[in-house]
Amino acid sequence: MASYGVATVIIRVSGDATNQTADELIRRGKIAGALCKPSLFWPGSVELDFGGLRCNASGRSIMPINSIHWFRKGLRLHDNPALLEAARGSQTLRCVYFLDPWFAGASNRGINRWRFLLQCLEDLDSSLRKLNSCLFVIRGQPANIFPRLFKEWKVSRLTFECDSEPFGKERDAAIKKLASEAGVEVITKISHTLYDLDRIMELNSSQPPLTYKRFQTLVSSMEPPEPPLEPLTRELLGNCVTPVSENHKERYGVPLLDELGFDTESLAPAVWPGGESEALMRLERHLGPDSTAAWQENFERPKMNSSPLLASPLGLSPYLRFGCLSCRLFYYKLTELFKKVKNGSPSISLYDKLLWREFFYTAASNNPRFDRMEGNPICIRIPWDRNPEALAKWAEAKTGFPWIDAIMTQLRQEGWIHHLARHAVACFLTRGDLWISWEEGMKVFEELLLDADWSVNAGSWLCHSCSSFFQQFFHCYCPVGFGRRIDPNGDFIRRYLPILQDFPAKYIYDPWNAPEEVQRAAKCVIGVDYPKPMVNHAEASRLNIERMRQIYQQLSRYRGLSLLATVPSNHMEVVSVSEAQGAAVPPTCRRTQSSTSSHRVRREQPGPSRPKYRGTRHRHALNHRTSPYTTQSNLTENGHEFAVPQQPGRLFWPIGGGAGKRETEAEHNGCHGDDGPSTSSSALKAQVDKKRREDGEGVAFSS
Ligand SMILES: Cc1cc2nc3c(=O)[nH]c(=O)nc-3n(C[C@H](O)[C@H](O)[C@H](O)COP(=O)(O)OP(=O)(O)OC[C@H]3O[C@@H](n4cnc5c(N)ncnc54)[C@H](O)[C@@H]3O)c2cc1C
Repeated sequence: MASYGVATVIIRVSGDATNQTADELIRRGKIAGALCKPSLFWPGSVELDFGGLRCNASGRSIMPINSIHWFRKGLRLHDNPALLEAARGSQTLRCVYFLDPWFAGASNRGINRWRFLLQCLEDLDSSLRKLNSCLFVIRGQPANIFPRLFKEWKVSRLTFECDSEPFGKERDAAIKKLASEAGVEVITKISHTLYDLDRIMELNSSQPPLTYKRFQTLVSSMEPPEPPLEPLTRELLGNCVTPVSENHKERYGVPLLDELGFDTESLAPAVWPGGESEALMRLERHLGPDSTAAWQENFERPKMNSSPLLASPLGLSPYLRFGCLSCRLFYYKLTELFKKVKNGSPSISLYDKLLWREFFYTAASNNPRFDRMEGNPICIRIPWDRNPEALAKWAEAKTGFPWIDAIMTQLRQEGWIHHLARHAVACFLTRGDLWISWEEGMKVFEELLLDADWSVNAGSWLCHSCSSFFQQFFHCYCPVGFGRRIDPNGDFIRRYLPILQDFPAKYIYDPWNAPEEVQRAAKCVIGVDYPKPMVNHAEASRLNIERMRQIYQQLSRYRGLSLLATVPSNHMEVVSVSEAQGAAVPPTCRRTQSSTSSHRVRREQPGPSRPKYRGTRHRHALNHRTSPYTTQSNLTENGHEFAVPQQPGRLFWPIGGGAGKRETEAEHNGCHGDDGPSTSSSALKAQVDKKRREDGEGVAFSS
């Protein structure tokens, strides 16, 4: 009789040793290499794990281990600790994915996302088949179907990756309960995030950190993330088999898109093929041994043209979203490449992209209303306008601003847009031009983006609409100048809006300003073949900035926050008309102004009506970014911290390339430097006040 303290020993032995007692096994030395650990299945007991069968104290086999690994995100075989747990010591392993065909038709995921998902499942199935296993795609809801599967397959162990999101946690708690009622051991592992998010919160007095700076400080004090694990192999599977029935394909095969009710007739080939194999190939190109050039392209200053705006064969976000790629593998490959190229140890800012993802996951993890304004404790309640017509124009690429419409077309067609393009359209929809709630934009992204991720998507929208995370609201992106600086020839627009392809570069961003003969020569008359701009940008953005300023001012009064630390008391006063034309600039402004930008300002064309006087500009003093991987987390002179997620990727310093010239600043310059109607500051205030009275509400943090 073997014992561990007073607890009974439960031993798992390989097939040929099932009738031997634990004592005999120990005496004969056959337990060498066995894993000894407290049993989750029989609380208070210890397991000696040889693989294969579960035995009682006398060494008699009592139950084989039949495992289910439940795939949700984490659609991969590499670095998948929960999957390895499922295989460990099991006699049978079934890998399942739940898909509700009814949900497919009714869900808010677009066809591109469904196709991406099905390709991931196909790839997973094919990789499992190489290991003599396969994927079981189960039609239905986990809570309804698991109890039946537990019985039918005599399941004793269920494994899955931890889900940090509130609804995922709730669902998993319900499944754990069902499993426990059925006597099924549940093993979960963290592998979708770099860190244990609960641990981060523990270090922050059980609260999610609400600034990126604080988040960085917390993770800097923690051990580095666990290194990635080896992929599942035949050796690791050992004697473990996957029982497959003859009608497996009909019952459990990966469905086709048309089986889910999608019309695939006019579907163009996927720009982003789904799956772990594709993800690993991309990672290799992105960060593998031959990727020094890719490093330069991605991490040093790239040449500016339209190409970074296009889908890149190095792009990884949809793969990280679905977990076809492990974020830990990404992290460690990045570290290796940095060490190779730079010959030194990286600072934490190297991992900014991944850490922003982690930051939003942490912020969302205990907040089921993270994707809402109402009832979301970290979201400022802003009286956004309800304007379904304007929203539809934005979502359907009919705003009349070619830069915005080209981005939205790319999003709809391909399912991915560059980070700066996301900035542009998010700003346009919310605080920049249309004053429509970020929730609406988030829903459109949710439907169309391949990488749409509940936490990251909502977090980014909260941030970019100035609804949370203390954004800077007093600069915004010009829907004309921003794109022009990135891609002066307008190739990106020509690609996605072929109707405009014959416009000369001079007018491609503001075709309404082209003389009639130019429009006719381009075979596109504005207002007939392509819409007129839906708003006067200069007017709308000035009004909206003033609204936002008042909102924050009110908030600081309520909350005693120094939110307005660096906000000019009246944004109209920051840079006067003459300054916009290149005359004297106050010292703080001078710091960030370049002659190039003033020049550009004069060229900018704002919107439909184009009065003959200059608008004003707003600027803010910001630190220079020193590395593409440095974020805009700045402490202002008054010590107030702003956190602005940045895309440290392939699109930087669009103009001038001068050290530290930031693209947001460049945008900022363009945004209000266009020829726009000059609204006097008091007139503007009056407009805002009127609007607020109409809205009939003040501002508050939602609770
Ligand atoms: C309004 C808005 C909504 C967004 N919604 C999403 C979303 O739903 N899912 C998503 O993954 N990213 C989102 N982002 C962040 C960012 O735009 C994308 O991650 C990035 O464009 C992906 O580009 P990539 O494929 O080149 O990945 P890379 O640039 O190579 O980045 C690798 C990974 O790092 C993470 N990452 C990079 N930048 C950011 C960032 N600023 N914030 C958070 N994580 C980041 C992502 O997980 C990404 O997969 C959003 C940004 C904005 C402005």
